[in-house]
Amino acid sequence: MASAARIVVLPGDGIGPEVTAAARRVLDAAVSRVGIALDYVDDVVGGAAVDAYRVALRPQTLRLCKTADAILFGAVGGPKWDDAAPDSKLRPGSALLGLRKGLGLFANLRPVRVDAAMVATSALRPERVRDVDLLVVRELTGGLYFSRPKRRYMTARGEAAVDTMRYSTPEIERVAVRAFELARLRRRRLCSVDKANVLETSRLWRAVVNRVAERYADVACSHMLVDAFAMELLRRPQAFDVVLMENLFGDILTDEASMLAGALGMLPSASLGAGTLGLYEPIHGSAPDIAGKGIANPIGAILSTALLLRWSLNQEDAAQAIERAVSQVLGAGLRTADIARDGETPVGTAVMADAIVKALR
Ligand code: NAD
Repeated sequence: MASAARIVVLPGDGIGPEVTAAARRVLDAAVSRVGIALDYVDDVVGGAAVDAYRVALRPQTLRLCKTADAILFGAVGGPKWDDAAPDSKLRPGSALLGLRKGLGLFANLRPVRVDAAMVATSALRPERVRDVDLLVVRELTGGLYFSRPKRRYMTARGEAAVDTMRYSTPEIERVAVRAFELARLRRRRLCSVDKANVLETSRLWRAVVNRVAERYADVACSHMLVDAFAMELLRRPQAFDVVLMENLFGDILTDEASMLAGALGMLPSASLGAGTLGLYEPIHGSAPDIAGKGIANPIGAILSTALLLRWSLNQEDAAQAIERAVSQVLGAGLRTADIARDGETPVGTAVMADAIVKALR
C-alpha cells in the first residue's frame, strides 16, 4: 500500500469503546508485522454523539467515513437514550442505519466458525458444532428496517402501526452476486433463505437469486424457508457454507448462530458495498449491563479487524495471523466471563487482548 490506510474509529457506547480499544491494539500489532501504516481518525457516534451534539450521526462524520479505507465500529445504544422517538435522529441506532445507507453498505458478512477449543463451550452438543464454518450474507439496506411507510397512527378502534417490507430486483441482485462471489472463494455452496410460501418479497427474492445462479453454474444453489432454516441451523449447521438472506431474517438468525460459536461476543461482521470501503464491527450490542467493568469479550471486535484487513486492505496474511492468534489463545484456555465454564477463572478484556497481541508476535 503506497500511503497509510485511513481507518475511521467509531467506538460508540457501552462496551463499544472497551472492545474497540482492544481491537485496535491487536490491529496495530498485526500491521506492524507486515509493515503497513494505519492513519486512525476518531469520531463520536450513537448515544455519545447525542449527548455531545444532539444527533446520533453528524453529517461530517458520514463525510469523514466516505474518505476512509475502512471503519472500525464498536456498538451504540443504551437505556439512557431509549425514550427517543423511533424515527428520531436522537436514537443511537439511527447512526448505524445512517452509515449503512449513506455509505451504500448493502452486504453484511457474518462468518460463524466454531473454534475447536470452543466446541465444549457451545450451547449445543459437541457433535452438532464441531467443524461448523458458515458465512451468513445478510442484505443490509432494504427490507423492513428501511422501507416506507413505517409509522404509528390512530384509528377509530385505537392505535395501529405499520412497517413495510419492500425489495427491488437490483437490491436483491447486488447482494446475491456478492454472496455467489464469496461462495466461489469457499466451498461453492449457497443456500438462500426466504419465506416464499407467504411473502411476495420472498417470491421476488427467490426468482432473482435463481436468475443470478444461472451465471454461477459452478456454485450449488439451494433455497430454504426461514422457519426450516432456523431449525436446521441447530440440527446440522455443518451442512451450510454461504447462506444468503434478507435484512430482518439475518438480524435474528445470526444471533441464533452466535450460540454455535459459544457467545454473542465471539462473532465479527463486515458491511460492504460495491467497492472496498467497509464497516467492521462485532455483532453484539453495547451491553450496558457489563459496560465499564472491563469484562467484555473483545474477540468479536478483534476478529472484525481481521475482516477489515481481508476485505478493505487486501492483507490476507495479516488477517489470518489475527485469526490464528485468537485460536491459539482460546486453545491455551483463556476465557472471558461470557465464555468461561464452571471452574474456569475468567480474564478481563485487556488481558484477553494482551494475550492475542502476544500470540501475534
Ligand atoms: P447486547 O448484544 O448488547 O447484549 C446482550 C447480552 O450479551 C448482554 O447480557 C450482554 O452483557 C452480553 N454481551 C454482549 N456482548 C458481549 C461481549 N462482548 N462480552 C460479554 N458479554 C456480551 O444486546 P442488548 O442487551 O439487546 O442491547 C443493548 C443495547 O445495544 C441496546 O441499546 C441495543 O439497541 C444496542 N444494540 C446495538 C447494536 C449495534 O450497535 N450494532 C446491536 C445490537 C444491540
